[in-house]
Amino acid sequence: MSFKKSSSAFKLAKQVLAGGVNSPARAFKAVGGSPVFIQKSQGAKIYDIDDNHFIDYVCSWGAILLGHSHEKVIDEVKKTLSLGSSFGTPTLLETEMAKLVIKCFPFLEKVRMVNSGTEATFSAIRLARGYTGKNKILKFKGCYHGHGDSFLIAAGSGAATLSQPDSAGVTNNVAQDTLLAEFNDFNEVERIFAEHKQDLAAVIIEPVAGNMGLIPAEPVFLKNLREITRENKTLLVFDEVMTGFRLSISGASGIYGIEPDLICLGKVIGGGFPVGAFGGKGAIMNALAPDGPVYQAGTLSGNPIAMRAGITVLRELLERKEAYLELEEKGAHLTKGLLSLAKQFSLPVVLNRMGSMFTLFFNSNAEVTNFKLAKESDTKRFAFFFNQMLHLGSYFPPSQFEAAFLNLSHSYEELDETLNHAETTLQKMV
Ligand code: PLP
Repeated sequence: MSFKKSSSAFKLAKQVLAGGVNSPARAFKAVGGSPVFIQKSQGAKIYDIDDNHFIDYVCSWGAILLGHSHEKVIDEVKKTLSLGSSFGTPTLLETEMAKLVIKCFPFLEKVRMVNSGTEATFSAIRLARGYTGKNKILKFKGCYHGHGDSFLIAAGSGAATLSQPDSAGVTNNVAQDTLLAEFNDFNEVERIFAEHKQDLAAVIIEPVAGNMGLIPAEPVFLKNLREITRENKTLLVFDEVMTGFRLSISGASGIYGIEPDLICLGKVIGGGFPVGAFGGKGAIMNALAPDGPVYQAGTLSGNPIAMRAGITVLRELLERKEAYLELEEKGAHLTKGLLSLAKQFSLPVVLNRMGSMFTLFFNSNAEVTNFKLAKESDTKRFAFFFNQMLHLGSYFPPSQFEAAFLNLSHSYEELDETLNHAETTLQKMV
């Protein structure tokens, strides 16, 4: 496989784009080499400018769930686009979208649409602070909540990959309002509450973390978080930007049966367009401007094209009752195959999966349940795995600390092709 055109394209991009990319994880820094420039996509495949194609397990970092270039999404977007691209006024589509989101997450009463996951999380935290009148937040090591200043502290994936867990440019004053605990460690949470409960506005968590590799929270851990936050009038915020509509129609909260005070959504909700949302009970959401004192706004928020794409995806998911079972079965098929190959070649790995999200950790621990254990993975081995798989035609996330994703259009033939690629690759790693 030749990547000549992609390599030259990256050299040119670096002259005019910071780092050659518009989001750091795309730059392949953690795995070496030059990123692949993609020009089109269809179903489970992406096609690069050198005429290579790949079975895609990044799926636009989880945003693509029905499949790339899904016919219904493209058709509906084209129709909506013919009426105009943005009006800066209310549209019927926004209400329709909000109703669909509320139908999927029954504890929601009101939502606000934004343009990205980052906007959803930092707006939710501002709202939590405004509503509770408290300042501090608690986040978990390895969880990523977008690039808002308050979250760039032990922020997983991108930051971990670049070995700079804290970003320059975040002031000490901001950082001191973010408290940190180990994921899945309730003793640490209790210690922090004992000291700071008067001033804790929110606990924010990825209930199934995807940004330190895939690590689900233990159910009892989430249950305990729900109780301690309720007891202390601290808001529990689920960041379901990755997991919302992906793990189930009602996300991770539906699977765990736990209702947060606020939920943040992104990725799948936009069907490949820039959309995010956050929501909660009316009493909390009414604190937002224009009705309340917490300011939040967006020129393109609720943009008709993005709303139409999101509505089409959500309707399709609501109609296809078997969609999540299908994703579960495909996920199980692929990961069982990967695990048995690793066993066959006696390679120490831990495979974490939930539905259509998974991570193959090159890690000798018995399990990977937090960021500390995830970081003990052999990232050089991962880089080898990634590059070999890429050259054979399977596109995995370019970091050990990113979750891989399936979409509904992956066929069993494609999954088996990837297993063949993995057999060749893992054999070379013995
Ligand atoms: N929250 C989580 C859990 C994410 O995985 C991400 C992005 O990967 C974000 C927030 C930020 O979303 P965006 O990249 O759309 O700003």
